[in-house]
Amino acid sequence: MSAVSLRDGVLHAEQVSLVEIAARFGTPCWVYSRQAIESALDEFLRELEGFDSLVCYAVKANSNLAVLNVLARRGAGFDIVSAGELSRALAAGADAQRIVFSGVGKTDEEMELALAAGILCFNVESAAELERLNAVAGRIGKTAAISLRVNPDVDARTHPYVSTGLKENKFGVAFDEARALYRRAKQLAHLEISGIDCHIGSQLLDPAPFSEALDKVLLLVDQLGEDGIVLHHIDLGGGLGIRYRDEEAPSVSEYLRPMLEKLRARGLRIVVEPGRRLVGNAGLLLTRVECLKPGEVKNFAIVDAAMNDLARPALYGSWHDIVPVVPRAGTPLVWDIVGPVCESGDFLGRGREIALETGDLLAILSAGAYGMSMSSNYNSRPRAAEVMVDGASAHLVRRRESVEELYALEQPLP
Ligand SMILES: *Cc1c(COP(=O)(O)O)cnc(C)c1O
Repeated sequence: MSAVSLRDGVLHAEQVSLVEIAARFGTPCWVYSRQAIESALDEFLRELEGFDSLVCYAVKANSNLAVLNVLARRGAGFDIVSAGELSRALAAGADAQRIVFSGVGKTDEEMELALAAGILCFNVESAAELERLNAVAGRIGKTAAISLRVNPDVDARTHPYVSTGLKENKFGVAFDEARALYRRAKQLAHLEISGIDCHIGSQLLDPAPFSEALDKVLLLVDQLGEDGIVLHHIDLGGGLGIRYRDEEAPSVSEYLRPMLEKLRARGLRIVVEPGRRLVGNAGLLLTRVECLKPGEVKNFAIVDAAMNDLARPALYGSWHDIVPVVPRAGTPLVWDIVGPVCESGDFLGRGREIALETGDLLAILSAGAYGMSMSSNYNSRPRAAEVMVDGASAHLVRRRESVEELYALEQPLP
C-alpha cells in the first residue's frame, strides 16, 4: 500500500511502526491507513468534479465502521447488498439518500428496511424482484426508486469468480429483456424509475470493457427515451482493479475519462460503486512467524494468520506481496507462507524469498479489500483485531474476538 514505508529499517504505516502495532494490539492484526483510503476516494472525486455525481463505496469490500465513517465524512455514499450492510452504513454515519442497494436476492424484510431508511435507489436484478419490490413498497405506503441492473454481456477478462457481466452469470437483467422490464416498471404504482445500472466484474485491469459495457447501456438509454422513459442517473458499477504484484492498474482517470466523455452531454447523474480500489491498497495483514519448517522439497513458514483471515489466496489463488516488517541481513530462503489451519489450501503466499527467523513479523500487503470482510472463524479461530492508523496515531477499530464469543450463541441439548 502506498502508505507503507521503511523508516530506520522498520516498516511503518503512515507514521506508526508496525512493530509497535503488533506489540500494542497483538497479531494477526489488520492495519488500515486513513490517509490511503482518503486519497483513493479523492482520486475519484477529482475526476468527477464538474459532474453531478456520487461515489458509492461498495461496503462488502471492507465494512468496518471506521472505514465507512472515514468515507462518509468525505462525502461518499454506499453500495450495499444486505440489511446488515445497510445497518452498518447508517451506524457509520451514512446519509441514506446516498445509499444504493444491489444484490440478486433481496428479501421482503430487507426491502422494507431500506424503504423505511429512505435509500436513494434499489438496483433491481430481475423481473421477479421488480414485482416484489412494488408489492412491498405498496404494503408499507412507500415509493421505491429503482434502476435496473442490466447485464451487457461483455467479457470483463478477469477471474471467473469475479466476472459478473456475462450472459452465463447470475447477475442483472438480460440486455434484451431490459427494455420490456422498464416498460413494466413504469406501470407499477409503487416504483419510480430513477436510473440504470451495470457492474461487469471485479479487479479489472483494462478500461476497455467498461467503455464497451457503457456503449451498450447508452444504447438502451436511447431506446428507453423513445419509450418515454427518462432516466435521472446512470450507475457505472465498480470493479476497477488494483496492483497486487506487478500489474499495471489503470489510473482512475484512465478508467473514468473515456466514459465521462460519452456521458458529458447526457445530463445524467453519474454514480460509481468502487470497492477494492478505495481500500485494497490501504490495508495490510500483520502476522508473526510461529514456526519454521524447512524441508526437502519445500520450506514452510507457519504464521499466526491463516486462510480464515485472508481467504483470497486459497479462494482465487491470489497473490499478495509479503514483506518483513524488520528486514534482516542474511541469506534468504524460499518459503511457503502458510497458516495453522487444517487445509493444504491454507497458504498466504508461495515461493517467497525472505530471510526469516521464528518470531519475525510479516506484512501481507494489499489486504484492505475482501480481507476481513471475507474472514471466517474456521478452526474456531477468533477474528483478528482491526487497527486504523491516522498520521502518528493508531486506533483500535475492532477488537480481537475472544474464543468464548465464538460459541456464545450455541448451547448443548437440554
Ligand atoms: C462487488 C460489487 C462492487 C464493487 O466491486 P469492486 O471490484 O470491489 O470495485 C460494486 N458493485 C456491485 C454491484 C458489486 O457487486
